Amino acid sequence: MRQALSYLALSGCEQETLIKAWEQRFDLPCKDRREGKEILRKIEEEIRAIPLPLHPLAEQKGHEKKSRPVERILIERGVLHHPRAERILSHFPGVGVEEITHYKDIFRRSTDGRRTLILAEKKGKLLYPGAPVCQNFGNRYFFYASQIMNCIFDCEYCYLKGMYPSDAMVVFLNLEDYFEELRELLSEHPVYLCLSYDTDLLALEAWTSFLHEWSGFIKEHPSLSVEIRTKSAYTGFYEKEKPLENLIFAYTLSPKSIVSTYESGAPSLSSRLTAVKKAMEKGFPVRLCFDPVLYCEDWQTIYGVFLDEVMETVDFGRVKDVSAGVFRIPHPYLRQMRKQTPHSAAAQYPYRNEGGVACYETALEEEIRQFFIQKLTKKIGNDKIFWWKTQGNCDKVDT
Ligand code: SF4
Repeated sequence: MRQALSYLALSGCEQETLIKAWEQRFDLPCKDRREGKEILRKIEEEIRAIPLPLHPLAEQKGHEKKSRPVERILIERGVLHHPRAERILSHFPGVGVEEITHYKDIFRRSTDGRRTLILAEKKGKLLYPGAPVCQNFGNRYFFYASQIMNCIFDCEYCYLKGMYPSDAMVVFLNLEDYFEELRELLSEHPVYLCLSYDTDLLALEAWTSFLHEWSGFIKEHPSLSVEIRTKSAYTGFYEKEKPLENLIFAYTLSPKSIVSTYESGAPSLSSRLTAVKKAMEKGFPVRLCFDPVLYCEDWQTIYGVFLDEVMETVDFGRVKDVSAGVFRIPHPYLRQMRKQTPHSAAAQYPYRNEGGVACYETALEEEIRQFFIQKLTKKIGNDKIFWWKTQGNCDKVDT
């Protein structure tokens, strides 16, 4: 109940009026625990019907809306003289650098508010099987790698807030070890690899050059297919590099009001669309991602206007495919995210728990899905739309 009430407060509803109405309607206080549970279920259902607000409450409370600059750099002793470390450090003249033994000593706890960058070496396993809440686009051998942990942007709904104990950005420098592990996998079967789930690699390319290095590896391995998920407006990569069929740039696009309310520090919709057009113009395969779709106030109008703008701006004949899905997050991550961001309506919304995944009501998810499919199929075939479904197989490719 406390959880539901905290969402009510953030959603801008008349909390007192609603509580009074419930007291009368349900004849509160309730008689026993059983009746209380039933009433709570009904109240939760009502609160779930209240959409996310689009007025930037976070901004009113003084939260930073721009991406934060790096204020402190920590570097593991073992990679002090690594050429990639030297290259990265050259981009941050004037930022204090401290030596550490192991990144985990720092990463286990939250930082003191300063944007911290950690340069480290990743040991042990480097490639993981794709998570069940992510789409595999029909690829049987779906893996992901976390070469950088945490993101330069600060989207309120980001699962990273629930996944990591710290917001420090950890950059692993030992690319060769990733390549080695990948070579072993590729000797057994093709691989579909998502490289940019736990960060935005393209947004960091100007100072890491990691994509440049990956590009060389990907070119030599045609049975490897790599997806780079991004919200970045950086187009320098497309100017400098040659396109590859098996290197896909997956742009997450959101309506303007969602960007300004919930995607702190991330580029505007128009900058992302400019980057999409540049990538396509230079021949890079582009995937459009409408994911996560948020249940926000007046969502049909907000997303309708947005889809019209995207469909007018982008040449869908050149889009590789479309990925879409409503917001969902593993339930344990949501718990942690709620603690970290008590001011966020996106985190405090009373999601349903479906087999360990926090998500919207099935009927709402289906309504949003139908709305998107109807719009998108005017521009692109069913076979190129991948919609994530909470019910059934998480990687279901079904339109
Ligand atoms: S861009 Fe993606 S990874 Fe970065 S904060 Fe936003 S949702 Fe998270």
